[in-house]
Order: sequence, then structure tokens, then C-alpha cells
Amino acid sequence: MASEHFDVLIVGAGLSGIGAGYHLQTLTPGRSYVILEGREAIGGTWDLFRYPGIRSDSDMYTLGYSFKPWTEAKAIADGPSILKYVRDTAGDYGIDRHIRYGHQVQAASWSSEDACWTVDAVSGGKPVQITANFLFLCGGYYSYEGGYTPEFPGAERFKGVTVHPQKWPQDLDYAGKAVVVIGSGATAVTLVPEMAKTAGHVTMLQRSPTYVVSRPAEDAAANKLRRLLPAMLAYNIIRWRNVLIGMWFFRRARNRPAQVKQTIIAMVRKALGPDYDVGKHFTPTYNPWDQRLCLVPDSDLFEAIKADKASVVTDHIETFTETGIRLKSGAELPADIIVSATGLTLQVLNGLQLTVDGRAIDPGRTLSYKGMMYEGVPNMASAFGYTNASWTLKCDLTCEYVCRVLNHMQATGARQVTPHNDDPTLGHEPWLDFSSGYVQRAMEKFPKQGSRAPWKLHQNYARDLMSLRYAKLEDGVLEFSNRKGAGVKAREKVAA
Ligand SMILES: Cc1cc2nc3c(=O)[nH]c(=O)nc-3n(C[C@H](O)[C@H](O)[C@H](O)COP(=O)(O)OP(=O)(O)OC[C@H]3O[C@@H](n4cnc5c(N)ncnc54)[C@H](O)[C@@H]3O)c2cc1C
Repeated sequence: MASEHFDVLIVGAGLSGIGAGYHLQTLTPGRSYVILEGREAIGGTWDLFRYPGIRSDSDMYTLGYSFKPWTEAKAIADGPSILKYVRDTAGDYGIDRHIRYGHQVQAASWSSEDACWTVDAVSGGKPVQITANFLFLCGGYYSYEGGYTPEFPGAERFKGVTVHPQKWPQDLDYAGKAVVVIGSGATAVTLVPEMAKTAGHVTMLQRSPTYVVSRPAEDAAANKLRRLLPAMLAYNIIRWRNVLIGMWFFRRARNRPAQVKQTIIAMVRKALGPDYDVGKHFTPTYNPWDQRLCLVPDSDLFEAIKADKASVVTDHIETFTETGIRLKSGAELPADIIVSATGLTLQVLNGLQLTVDGRAIDPGRTLSYKGMMYEGVPNMASAFGYTNASWTLKCDLTCEYVCRVLNHMQATGARQVTPHNDDPTLGHEPWLDFSSGYVQRAMEKFPKQGSRAPWKLHQNYARDLMSLRYAKLEDGVLEFSNRKGAGVKAREKVAA
């Protein structure tokens, strides 16, 4: 099979893939790159999800790229505005010219002999092969084939419509209908107030509560600053302010969980009034940030509950019935439509089968280096954002780091860069320490993090900034090898 060659191959044209394209062409100019995108559209998450009210749950000053100011009034932005921002970025910087749509990448095999990856994709039902010196996985963290839906007893009996938010039917008419949304995560708390605007009634059915925090959709101070200062300066100031507030809040939640819990619950109580059972419906058993917090703009969820357009039920499903859901408590929830906002199916390393010099890589047995490269896997990085802050903060740093590595390789003639762990005392820990079900279900298949730097995932922007932007590349763990004309490192070792 004839194959084209690029210096860098990026998987995915979502927020991360477009950011990667920008950084590559800006920080390592002259390097050829291609972006292979499985779908026919740019934007990833922000194109795929079309459910009513789809929006960010972190502020756009940190979810936006470091290099492109967010200029809209709303800091908590709707999905179409975020999609436009990603599309505009790709168009403004000519990144879109590098995208090949409809190319689903399936496998990649590394050859130390040739110092390159052979990447297998499928396009229009036909196999396509491309070679590249560096593989940058920017395909997100979940499967695009379908979300996670538990097997609900009696699901086949239900005569109404069942929907998963990842595959929202655009013609679904819910005006005046009784809707039950199963779940209590970010998607559920977005859907409930939005659907409540026209539905007859929306019930959020949860097994257990989640922390819900309200913030203004518009950031008044940020909007004022944007009117006074040049766009980029204002953006940088607001971005840093939000980063620092986020870090402070997370630290406080970890150090004084009881106090933070009390503060969040008090805010909910104030929003819903003294008669509402906040203890039952909005008081989780876990500590703040043991799972992702849910953000609601302008208290929209609480307003819908107060207006009696929406309600929360905390109970377990006994069975679906013909007309709704019967709960373990014996109560019945009538429903015309049931929305299963039960989460995503996490996917490891963009679903790729990886081989290094003929050896299959099992991601679950691999250690991640700085949360982006993998022990024993040469010339590959992946973009994976924060769980306690905006995704893009980490992705921007990851892209910068990859460019530093590539420039260093060019300067030193190294054709291969591989993290190696020689420390037998290094502990292995799960990639994420979230207690959420969808995370726990997937962690076995995910690479592990180490108990110490540089294998430890700190989920901390300031630490990552130091480690990725400023720390020296040759740290005794990251091995630059396979120099031109010097033969393959493995062969060098054998010869020695
Ligand atoms: C509903 C929802 C709301 C969210 N809100 C926030 C938020 O407010 N703040 C936040 O920080 N994070 C949020 N996230 C996380 C969010 O996914 C990231 O912020 C960000 O959009 C991820 O961008 P990405 O480009 O890495 O991945 P994605 O957006 O998932 O895009 C990945 C792209 O890669 C393509 N792809 C994947 N695998 C392959 C393959 N093998 N071959 C070819 N193409 C492939 C996909 O088709 C897709 O286009 C949210 C996630 C969801 C699902």
C-alpha cells in the first residue's frame, strides 16, 4: 500500500487537535503535519453533542486557547459558540487545510529501524496507510460510538421514547411532555432546566446527589476589563485570575473538605429555600472534588425547581414500566420520554492498537510520563486535560512541550524520544483518582501514573507549567536516542 509521510500525525480535529496544529506550525515551523479526523466535521465534543442547552461547565477564559482570546459576553458558553470558536481558530490559522476528514485511525506501529510510525486508518471503507515520525493523539477520552447506558430492568417494556444525550434525535418534541432524566452529572443538570422551559415537567432521577455550584453565566468583571484593555491582555489577566481561583478552591476542598462541603450546601439551601430537602437531594456522601463538581449558570436548575417545572428524586430504579419508572421506594414516575444521562464510555489512547518494534502495547500496563507520554513507547504523546480545571489548560502545555521535544530532537539529531523508568520503587497508581462510576469502570484499561514526578499526574496547572514549559528535557528519564547514522539504540545495546 502506497503511503504518504509527515513529520507529525495528529489524531482528531477537536479542541485539542486544532490546538496541536496551531502550536506545531507556530513553535516548530516548517514541519509537515496532518490531522486525521474520523468524523466529517471539526470540533469533536462540541459538534457531536446536540442535546438541548449543551454548554461548557467551565469558564471559556480557561477552556479557550492560550493564544486566542474568548471574546463573547458569556463565560459559561453554549455548545454552538464553542464550536464556532474552534472552527474559527482552524480557519484563521489555516489549520483546517491540514485536516483529512472521514479517516478513522485504528492502529499504529513503531519501527526503531526507520524511526517512524506506520499508521493504519480507514477512509470510505478502504484502508489508508500514512507514516509519521511523531504521533500526537488528540482524539479525546471517550468513545464516539455511543455513550454508557446501564441495563435497566424492564427497559423493553417502556412504550415512550428513550434517549441518550450523545445521540440526541434533532426532531424530538418534548413540549408539554413528562420527562425523566436519569443521572446527576453535568449533562443532567444542563438538560433539566433547559427542557423544563417547554416540557410539562422534568424529573431528575438520581441514585445519589452531586455537588452543584451556581455561577453567573456572564463574568461582569471580565466583561468590564475587556472593554478597557486590549483583547489579549484582558484575556490573559482573566485567564490567570480564573486559574488561580480554581487552584485555590481545589486545594481548599482537599485540605478542608468539611468546610467546603458546608459552604456549597449552604449556597444550595439559600437558592432553594428552607423547606427544600437539600440534605437528601444535594448533599453527597463523598467530599467535594472526589468527583467532578457540577456548575450551573445563574442558578438555572434551582430556578426551575422553585418554579415547579422540575424536581429531583433521589431513589433507585426497580424497573421500567409501560408508562415510566417504578422506584425501589414503591413510587412511580410517569414518563413520555426517558433520557439516560448516564455518562460516557471512556476510551483509552483513542482506541488505537499500538505496536513498538513488533511488541503489542497494553495501555493498562503502561506508565504515563508527565501525563502525556508513555514508558517504552517512542515518539508519541497524547493530549489529556485536567479533571479539576479546564481541559485546554493542560492541552496547551502539552502541545508546547511536544514542540520543545521536537525542536530538541532536531537540534541534537535524535530520531527517537522514549520515557524509561529504571526505578523499581516507583509505585503505580490509577490514572485518575475520581470515585465516579464511569471513571472507575475504565481505570483498569488506562495507563497508570507513578507515585513520583515525572510520572505523577498533579492535576495542577502551576506545577505543570514549571514541569512542561521550563524544566529541562534531558531529565534522566526521557531518553533521546537513535541519532542519524548512529544506528538504533536497541542495536547499540546488543552490540555493547
Ligand atoms: C458534554 C460535554 C461537556 C464538556 N464540557 C467541558 C467543559 O466545560 N470544560 C472542560 O474542560 N471540559 C469539558 N468537557 C471535556 C471535553 O471533551 C474537552 O473539554 C474537549 O472538548 C476535548 O477536546 P478533544 O479535542 O481532546 O476531544 P474531543 O472533543 O472528544 O474530540 C476528539 C476528536 O477526535 C476524533 N477521534 C477520536 N479518535 C479518533 C480516531 N481513532 N481516529 C480519528 N479521529 C478520532 C473524534 O472524532 C473527535 O472529533 C466536556 C465533555 C463533554 C462530553
